[in-house]
Amino acid sequence: MTAFLALLLATAAPANRPMVELTRLDCGSATIKDFNAFFSDTLEYPAGPRRITDSCYLVRHMGHYLLWDTGFPAALKGKPNDMGALVVTIDKTIPEQLALLGLKPSDITVVGISHMHGDHVGQAADFPAAKLLVGKADFEQTVGPKDPFGPWRGANAKLQLEHGGDIDVFGDGKVIALNMPGHTPDHMALLVKLASGNVLLTGDLYHATEARTLKGVPPFNTSRADTLASMDRFERLARHYNAKVIIQHEPRDIAKLPTFPAAAR
Ligand SMILES: [Zn+2]
Repeated sequence: MTAFLALLLATAAPANRPMVELTRLDCGSATIKDFNAFFSDTLEYPAGPRRITDSCYLVRHMGHYLLWDTGFPAALKGKPNDMGALVVTIDKTIPEQLALLGLKPSDITVVGISHMHGDHVGQAADFPAAKLLVGKADFEQTVGPKDPFGPWRGANAKLQLEHGGDIDVFGDGKVIALNMPGHTPDHMALLVKLASGNVLLTGDLYHATEARTLKGVPPFNTSRADTLASMDRFERLARHYNAKVIIQHEPRDIAKLPTFPAAAR
């Protein structure tokens, strides 16, 4: 047995608690002023404004926690923020929601980032004690004065970079960060194997239900061909694992998981 596995077993939850739980966090929302032009490079979506969610997820694996995506920055909290094509609001920060679960930021073992866009990395730096799991090119392309990954740039940073392959987050196959490039160079999705069934979190492989139905690609996208290939792989995995698919920005998918603070098990 590896030392890592021994550590996991030593911190295992009591027998009446499932090994893995998944909790949806609210990391803000945005109203897109022109949903079709913003999200469809073929202009196939409904016209007019539409509200999207910005969701983050807490995965408890025995005694360890993975925070999947970190939403908009906490500095945007409490007021509508007009950013041109969209208006962003955030009601509660991630640490505030963790506190309601009895957790501190330092309890987060791993911060996993689907991709480098600002609505997914906003609060990452609020968890400097965690290991950062992110796509290699996404990590390298975010260097700058407003670097969201600043705490992990040092020589001894706790950092795991994905490139070209999946990552078994806790070493037992229950939680897997999936290589799904295209939207950004090293974009990832997440597979969570719960006792009640498998769940796939899309990252931003899809931004809305229409994107999944139509295989729609947004104008802001690194590689259209890679995105379509990732969608093909994602749908095959969804079938193979008979997974519940949650599009992270889709308000219609909120009800697929229990309402916070309840967790899916
Ligand atoms: Zn996004």
